[in-house]
Amino acid sequence: MLYSILGFKCPYCHTGDFFVSHPYDLRHTGDVHDHCGHCGRRFNIEPGFYYGAMYVSYAIGVAAMVTVWVACSILFPDLSPTGLVIAILSTLLVGAPYFYALSKIIWANLFFKYDRKSAGPGDQVGH
Ligand SMILES: [Zn+2]
Repeated sequence: MLYSILGFKCPYCHTGDFFVSHPYDLRHTGDVHDHCGHCGRRFNIEPGFYYGAMYVSYAIGVAAMVTVWVACSILFPDLSPTGLVIAILSTLLVGAPYFYALSKIIWANLFFKYDRKSAGPGDQVGH
């Protein structure tokens, strides 16, 4: 499951790509394939399925803020509150496409389960 999330791979077979492109290809950020190119399973199982990913995205954003906050207070104890806010905001800004993509694949992994049978090379499952 972690492999699927961090590698942005299909939650079912961990082989096919989940996203159309990488998160920093801004025209396609978060664009999910309709089907897995390897096992053929659908990613868009119903309209609006990925709206729920917004909750995950929110959680990731909060976690990232706390992480930057803690990291800054350890690495730069003399940092002013303004500097801290700038550090947090720029992290969120730079990380936004990645967090967005991450939230979608985490969301998908909550519902789609890894299936070892479909992971084999060339073991295509029909549509
Ligand atoms: Zn697949």
